[in-house]
Amino acid sequence: MSTAAPPELDATHREIQGLAREFARGEIAPHAERWNREHHVPVEALRRMGELGFLGVIIPEEYGGAGLDYTCLALVIEEIAAVDAGTSVGVAAQNSLGASPIVAHGTEEQRARLLPPLASGERFAAYALTEPDAGSDAAGLRTSATRDGDHWVVRGSKQWITNGGFADLFVLFARTGGPGARGVSAFVAERGDGFTVGREMPKMGLHTSSTVELAFDGYRLPADAMLADEGAGMKVAFSTLDSGRVIIAAQACGIARAALETAVDYARERTAFGGPIGRFQGVQFPLAEIAARLDAARLLTLHAARLRDAGRPHTAVGAKAKLVASQVAVDAANACVQTLGGYGYSAEYPAERYYRDAKITQIYEGTSEIQRLVIARDLLGEAARG
Ligand SMILES: Cc1cc2nc3c(=O)[nH]c(=O)nc-3n(C[C@H](O)[C@H](O)[C@H](O)COP(=O)(O)OP(=O)(O)OC[C@H]3O[C@@H](n4cnc5c(N)ncnc54)[C@H](O)[C@@H]3O)c2cc1C
Repeated sequence: MSTAAPPELDATHREIQGLAREFARGEIAPHAERWNREHHVPVEALRRMGELGFLGVIIPEEYGGAGLDYTCLALVIEEIAAVDAGTSVGVAAQNSLGASPIVAHGTEEQRARLLPPLASGERFAAYALTEPDAGSDAAGLRTSATRDGDHWVVRGSKQWITNGGFADLFVLFARTGGPGARGVSAFVAERGDGFTVGREMPKMGLHTSSTVELAFDGYRLPADAMLADEGAGMKVAFSTLDSGRVIIAAQACGIARAALETAVDYARERTAFGGPIGRFQGVQFPLAEIAARLDAARLLTLHAARLRDAGRPHTAVGAKAKLVASQVAVDAANACVQTLGGYGYSAEYPAERYYRDAKITQIYEGTSEIQRLVIARDLLGEAARG
């Protein structure tokens, strides 16, 4: 089956893709089924990825990172997601949600202090935007940071924080001013008094990913923990998500690829009515359709990554990539379960894991409805806002 990368990838892209594939197949795939069954978050495997440069793909070399681009990160994430989606989101969150806002908005002092341990895997990062009552409407967040001398005092709670169970740094968004987007500021918070990392939230899938609640009760942040200017928090949040979505699109491509490959292998082996089930058009056509749509989704994802790398606008293209790739992932996982029949429904085969894992790509870093909204605003401009 052809899953070749587009020919325009350069030597560095191919090299990191090969390295990620080798690591994913050799060191994650053999354990993925057990890790998921046991809800084991493979922090040691993540740390090992720090040694290979995967935790600091987009961190500049001067801060200990690999100094590579979003195209490389997308390729790495597709390879890891193709063997385990939960592990891939840990790597994605470290790079595109944790390190990326510090690279883009941190002061020289913040970058020099915070980025090297993230690149090496010595420390982990999380991104804390969502709250129990503010998800899609993130600018409605309520967690507050009130100035007290040379500190900010934080009160409130966060929910669904990826990597939160083991993260050391949290890119934290809190209200420092009035209502709406302009009242929000971004900080880099470290664990401390008044900051409680709560329970692991039970999930449908992604069982190798840590997802926690956070509570802040009088937690004190030094003034120099602020990222960018006071009131610029939602700009930090949205620009981070603009690029992060491209990486989630890559994750969706990885899940879709794994589902398609599993279904194709099975359709070749399984016999019914005197021959392989792959000879039935009813089995062939859904897989053919997924193969075509997956190639299209991957090309769109890499196109969005290249725009990001070229410093060109990529908000709408990234939203299109995530919208399309996440739908392919869900449909591919569904086709995989169907192709495997009863075995597709069995927890002893990977199809049902793909089915559960694929769904998240339509929800986090902006639901598919929110992606449509972003695309519509790009198409219609002010007219879309009513
Ligand atoms: C496993 C997991 C990991 C996550 N990791 C993180 C993380 O690391 N950091 C973080 O900050 N957040 C994280 N999230 C949160 C995630 O980004 C939000 O769940 C998501 O943005 C949706 O927000 P919500 O759950 O509050 O849904 P809501 O915003 O309440 O949406 C509910 C429904 O209403 C629809 N809807 C809402 N507004 C509109 C609209 N204007 N037009 C049309 N439809 C609309 C939505 O599309 C959705 O279908 C994670 C979530 C999960 C499940």
